[in-house]
Amino acid sequence: MKTMSCKQLGGACDQTFSANTFEEMASLSKEHGKEMFKKIMLHI
Ligand SMILES: [Zn+2]
Repeated sequence: MKTMSCKQLGGACDQTFSANTFEEMASLSKEHGKEMFKKIMLHI
């Protein structure tokens, strides 16, 4: 199990992701990125 933070993955917050594989980590980070994008769009 690996844990990486959003910041380590190039993001802007301190949320952490835990995954067993790189693919899993990548998809978690991608889904999180979409959520962040939606939140940003709501503020514009
Ligand atoms: Zn984030």
